[in-house]
Amino acid sequence: ARISEGEALRKRLHNTILELKGNIRVFCRVRPFITDGNVYDGSAISFPTSTDLVGRGIDLANQTQKYSFAFDRVFGPDSSQQDVFVEISQLVQSALDGYKVCIFAYGQTGSGKTYTMMGRQSSEGEKGMIPRSLHQIFKTTRALTSEGWEYCIQASMLEIYNETIRDLLLPGRPGVGPEASNGKQYNIKHDANGNTIVSDLTIEDVHSQEDVDRILRQAEQSRSVGRTQMNEQSSRSHCVFTLRISGVNKKTEQQVQGVLNLIDLAGSERLAKSGATGDRLKETQAINKSLSALSDVIFSLAKKEDHVPFRNSKLTYLLQPCLGGDSKTLMFVNVSPEVPSAGETLCSLRFAARVNSCEIGVPRRQT
Ligand code: ADP
Repeated sequence: ARISEGEALRKRLHNTILELKGNIRVFCRVRPFITDGNVYDGSAISFPTSTDLVGRGIDLANQTQKYSFAFDRVFGPDSSQQDVFVEISQLVQSALDGYKVCIFAYGQTGSGKTYTMMGRQSSEGEKGMIPRSLHQIFKTTRALTSEGWEYCIQASMLEIYNETIRDLLLPGRPGVGPEASNGKQYNIKHDANGNTIVSDLTIEDVHSQEDVDRILRQAEQSRSVGRTQMNEQSSRSHCVFTLRISGVNKKTEQQVQGVLNLIDLAGSERLAKSGATGDRLKETQAINKSLSALSDVIFSLAKKEDHVPFRNSKLTYLLQPCLGGDSKTLMFVNVSPEVPSAGETLCSLRFAARVNSCEIGVPRRQT
């Protein structure tokens, strides 16, 4: 399709705005209605049009009030995976240029986080940000070989559930619990070069699209076995996909080392609504704790505090080298359009709006 001149200009302007802003961006994505046999009387979500030049506004109405929010970008229910990917492709590119990048999906269970990150593997058009990022990385690295670049790309994928790590690429042991990890410890350390090392974690070299497909299939299988065994565990765990990219230019002897993390966060729903007791209560508390540990880190980086509480959760400790400093962060806030979800949606949007007002790009004093 041809893009009109005005549209191209608007897009360039929009990208410039994104570049000028600090290094934390927030994109909001509203999923379509799910046709599950229920009849819904309208959507809680609407989009202001006249003032909304680049798709940045979103309105939410609950029974009593209307709320307006603005984010770096808002994707409505009709937006395709490709529409969304176009807006993050520059960020993926910067991992190839040697940046450390984190892309999060935040939102209540069922709001479209996994769809955004992984998508449907069976349908080309519905593949999510992870397979699309890998596709772009392969395309670019292949093109750069003619300029003398050689790349080594390594992938790992893990799940953090109740503050324990599970290796999603451990061959042949897709279950949950200590037996599934074969006695492995998965301790997190940071080396002198600012790289995260998780002991015993499977790291796969990826050379081709076939390797990617195999890895994603294995991870999906591990996640779904976990889900059945632990009763919808996947919505209660954070899933972290990490790609380490090392490049050397044989002609110029330039070197780059970038990291791309794509993180499908645990459902953000609040305790009261989930009506949790017993084990489930413990889980919900652990999730709330680690999600609030993540927001504490973001807000503490934004305030340029001397002490950033990275060690308060496995997730933030794992991602420490990739948050703040000159790393780049993007957060998707995924929301459901249905009226009964309006309460959770409001919480998600308020949190995301606070994150969107943060700038954590300026180098800070390390402690
Ligand atoms: P979450 O990971 O937040 O729990 P999911 O990604 O599993 O939510 O989404 C819930 C359901 O909605 C899934 O069946 C998913 O396929 C569907 N879905 C979510 N977002 C979209 C979208 N943009 N287009 C089509 N279907 C979607």
